[in-house]
Amino acid sequence: MLVHKIEEVKNITKNWKDCTIALVPTMGALHEGHLSLIKKAKEVCDKVVVSVFVNPIQFGPSEDYDKYPRTLDKDYELCSKEGVDLVFAPSPAEMYGEEQMLSNNTLTFVCPPFFYVNKLCGKTRVGHFDGVCTVVLKLFNIVQPDYAFFGQKDAQQVVIIKKMVHDLNVPVKIVQCPIIREASGLALSSRNKYLSNDGKKNALALSQILNNIRACYKKGITDIAALKETAYGYLTEKHDLEYLEILDKNTLEEQKKADENSIALIACRVENVRLIDNIYLGE
Ligand code: AMP
Repeated sequence: MLVHKIEEVKNITKNWKDCTIALVPTMGALHEGHLSLIKKAKEVCDKVVVSVFVNPIQFGPSEDYDKYPRTLDKDYELCSKEGVDLVFAPSPAEMYGEEQMLSNNTLTFVCPPFFYVNKLCGKTRVGHFDGVCTVVLKLFNIVQPDYAFFGQKDAQQVVIIKKMVHDLNVPVKIVQCPIIREASGLALSSRNKYLSNDGKKNALALSQILNNIRACYKKGITDIAALKETAYGYLTEKHDLEYLEILDKNTLEEQKKADENSIALIACRVENVRLIDNIYLGE
């Protein structure tokens, strides 16, 4: 079933009192990465709700909100095939109110701690994680899921959402699912649609850099500067590197040396498309 109104979601889910409910929040343009979350949700819960919402308040003024791919008919078809019980695709006005759309100045935001947002994607995407946490908490309140499923692809996002759920005593269990990749190694992303064939080839550098860092770590290199330096062999004038970091995967703290808890994370523009990827060094 596809619904657009918050009240419709509440009317449907109130009949699911004896069921465990999963929520898979997405911005649509669904691909195998999203479907892996949905499949996991189906395994764990009786009922699965997928939200499809391109959330305006998590995009900066110069970001791709207007051109972000919107393919609701196809998304709904894919969800139906996977046996999703409910697809919730609200309008921005439904989520934030008509008057709210004119200005963010009167909206209550959930602002995650500076420690977690002042690094990685948060450094360049100022306010992004405020927008993410705000919409995710709203979705939790609307759907009231027992479990919510997020991808490791957005590793900083999962750490921040887990922290929000812990700090605000939100009664939902967060399940993190592994990154789904093309056979080439490229992490699936709705933004890959913006890339030309050449761009897709150049985008392989991200996963190659991460795989190589892990291989070097496995060979015994734990010096973080040395591990990061191995990236330069893969970068050309086609790559605009935004960050490459090696941090503690649970806390996003800096480490003296890489260890089994390390995660390497990269953000890089190719053809001006901002791509992110990451890898656990201990796995
Ligand atoms: P998005 O629609 O980009 O907001 O993503 C919705 C959810 O799907 C987020 O939890 C993402 O981390 C997850 N996701 C996106 N790409 C992938 C991928 N390649 N593998 C696994 N999960 C993904």
